[in-house]
Amino acid sequence: MAVDLHTHSTASDGSDDPATLVDKAAAMGLSTIALTDHDTQDGIALARSAAERMGVELVPGTELSLEFMGGMHLLVLWLEPGPGPLQDRLGSLRQGRTGRNESILALLTDHGMPLTMDEVLEQAGEGSVGRPHIAAVMVRRGYVASIAEAFELWLAAGKPAYANRPRLTPEEAIGLAVQSRGVPILAHPHTLGINRADEMAEVLDRLLSAGLIGMETMYAAYHRHEREGYTHLARRFGLSVSGGSDYHGTYKEGLELGRGYGDLEVPESVLEDLRDRRPGA
Ligand code: AMP
Ligand code: ZN
Ligand code: FE
Ligand code: FE
Repeated sequence: MAVDLHTHSTASDGSDDPATLVDKAAAMGLSTIALTDHDTQDGIALARSAAERMGVELVPGTELSLEFMGGMHLLVLWLEPGPGPLQDRLGSLRQGRTGRNESILALLTDHGMPLTMDEVLEQAGEGSVGRPHIAAVMVRRGYVASIAEAFELWLAAGKPAYANRPRLTPEEAIGLAVQSRGVPILAHPHTLGINRADEMAEVLDRLLSAGLIGMETMYAAYHRHEREGYTHLARRFGLSVSGGSDYHGTYKEGLELGRGYGDLEVPESVLEDLRDRRPGA
């Protein structure tokens, strides 16, 4: 059976609520999914009870955006909700999104695309608010044709309505993850924006010293040769491999849970290898 170790629900910027996500996993024949909502574990309890009902394994997790030139995201798997070194930091990371969202709305207004925070909050529901929610409101208002276009023209890093927010450094995040007995995994490594092998080696050495355990080599958006290339890289550095779809429901078109764009298949052996490396296990 296959697994999917990177998914988002309505607790952040996915469109399926946690129980629906687990139902879909069962229908897809997945044995296990990890729920990795951005900066929050608010969906875990609901996902867990659905998982017990459906006979699916639920790995609790989160995804963090880190302070790094280029985009560095960290998946933390087997992070138990509740008090803990990393868990206790998630609230302030979510708060940091509030100021950032206000900045983004001000920039959009400057560019002739006013929208209100109420609309964005309504779009986000209970969840950790992010750019995909703003993008969805832009689509509804008719400012852009799609969420992807909202990012390409306005919201992505370097575009006119981009604003930054406070982030943990890689060392802080990885250290806190390990202290919390979570398994830290470098997500979709292409977003680091590194092409040179020596530069990649330097960054991976830095992350390994901090305690990095895995690398997401089987990412939905990767071609087979990219998955193979990153898998070789991970092996060379003693990192375990991970894989997932980064499913967001309607916020990311064309992506299927477990299968990605159709050719993703993450074997259970990946799950077992990562589980064995859980700090303190
Ligand atoms: P935020 O958490 O506000 O920084 O938004 C990050 C999220 O935006 C990612 O997890 C993706 O879901 C989404 N995202 C980032 N870049 C793009 C893009 N080019 N097209 C569509 N969605 C994107
Ligand atoms: Zn997201
Ligand atoms: Fe990510
Ligand atoms: Fe993600």
